[in-house]
Amino acid sequence: MNLEGKMNFERRKILVVDDNTEFVDLARKILESNNFQVSVALDGKTAIEKALLDAPECVLLDLKLPDISGEEVLSKVKEIDKDIAIVVITGYGGEQVAVEMMRKGAIDFLSKPIDNEVLLSSIKNALEIRDAQIEDRQFLRYPGLERFFPFLAHEIRNPLHAISGALAIIQRRSDLKDEILGRSIKIIYEEVKHLNGFVQECLNFVRPPNIVRFVEVEISEIISVVMNIISHMFESEAKKIKVVTQLDPQLPKIYANYEEIKQAFLNIVRNAFEAMPQGGQLTIQTYTRSDSPQYICVTFTDTGMGIKKENLGNLFNPFFTTKPRGTGLGLALCRRIIYERHHGKIHIESEEDIGTTVKVELPVGRRIADLVGVK
Ligand code: ADP
Ligand code: MG
Repeated sequence: MNLEGKMNFERRKILVVDDNTEFVDLARKILESNNFQVSVALDGKTAIEKALLDAPECVLLDLKLPDISGEEVLSKVKEIDKDIAIVVITGYGGEQVAVEMMRKGAIDFLSKPIDNEVLLSSIKNALEIRDAQIEDRQFLRYPGLERFFPFLAHEIRNPLHAISGALAIIQRRSDLKDEILGRSIKIIYEEVKHLNGFVQECLNFVRPPNIVRFVEVEISEIISVVMNIISHMFESEAKKIKVVTQLDPQLPKIYANYEEIKQAFLNIVRNAFEAMPQGGQLTIQTYTRSDSPQYICVTFTDTGMGIKKENLGNLFNPFFTTKPRGTGLGLALCRRIIYERHHGKIHIESEEDIGTTVKVELPVGRRIADLVGVK
C-alpha cells in the first residue's frame, strides 16, 4: 500500500472563507484545476452554515472576517465536525495568532501573499493529517487496548521471569549428557523469549508518543545501531544475509524522535530478515531527491520471499500477519511513527519470490506544529 498514492484528492471538499473576493477567486481557480470541490463563504456566518451543510473536509480560513472573528468560526466549525481540517490565513506578522489557532486545532497557517504551490501542498498535507487521525481512531475500535496491553504484559511477564529463573536451576542441576533434556530446556528458553518479545511489541504499539523528545538525528547512526541489534537478534541467519549500505555522507540531519525512528527501522529490518530464512541480501540506501529536498529518503531492499499482491493493502493494519507467530503490529507501529508522528511517508513495493522494498521519507525541517505540541 502506498500512503502517498492512496491520497487521491479528486473531488475532496474545500471551503474557502475570506471576504477578499480576489483571493477567493484565485484560490478557487487553483483548487478546482487540481480537481478539488470548492465552496466559498465571504463572511463568518455563511462559513458556519456551509460547514454544516456542505460537509467540507478542509476549511481555508481567513482570520479577519467582516462579521465574526476567525477564531470563533474555527471553534464553531470544530464543534460541527472535529475532523474538519483547518488551514488558517493570516495577514503580515500574524504568526503569533496563528500559533494560538494551531493550539485550538488548526493544522497549518499561511501568511498572505500566498504562493500557489504552498497553498496546494498545505491543503493536501492538512487532508492527509485529517485522514490519518480518522484512521487512527478506527484502529482503536479495539476498545481499551491501551489499558489492556499493559495489564496483560504485567500478568505475562511475571510468570515468565519465574519460569526463566526456575529453568536456570533445572539447567544447572541437570545431567549435561542428557540430550533430550538439554533440547527441552532450549525449547522452553526460546518460547519464553518469544513470549517476552511478543509482549514487548504489544507494549511498543500502545506506548503514547513522546512529544518533546524531538532532537537532531543522524540517520546513518540509527542505521548502524539497528544493524547491531539485528545481528544479535538473528545470530544464525545473519551469516547468510549480506548487508549492503549505500549511505549519502551529505544526508542532512533530521529533527525526529530518535527512539521511535530506531524502533521503526528495527521493525522494517526485522521483517526483511524474517523474509530471508534461506539467506539473501539487504540493501539500505539513504539519499535526498533534488526535486524534494525537504525530505530524506531511506530504502530497505531485501531479496526475500516478497509479498502476495492481495496482501499489499493490509500490511499496515494492526494484527495483520502472514507469520505463524507474528503479531502484525510491526508495520502498524511504523506507520504511526513515520506517518502520524513525523509527518513522513512509508511505502512498500514487493514482488513475490523476488523481494521487497520499503521506502521511508522523513521531513528535514522542524515543523511549527511540533513547536506548539500539536500532533
Ligand atoms: P509481523 O512481522 O508480526 O507479521 P508486521 O506488521 O511487521 O507484522 O508485518 C506484517 C506482514 O507484512 C508480515 O506478516 C509479512 O506478510 C509482510 N511483510 C512485511 N515486511 C516484509 C518483507 N520485507 N518481506 C516480505 N513480507 C513482508
Ligand atoms: Mg514484523
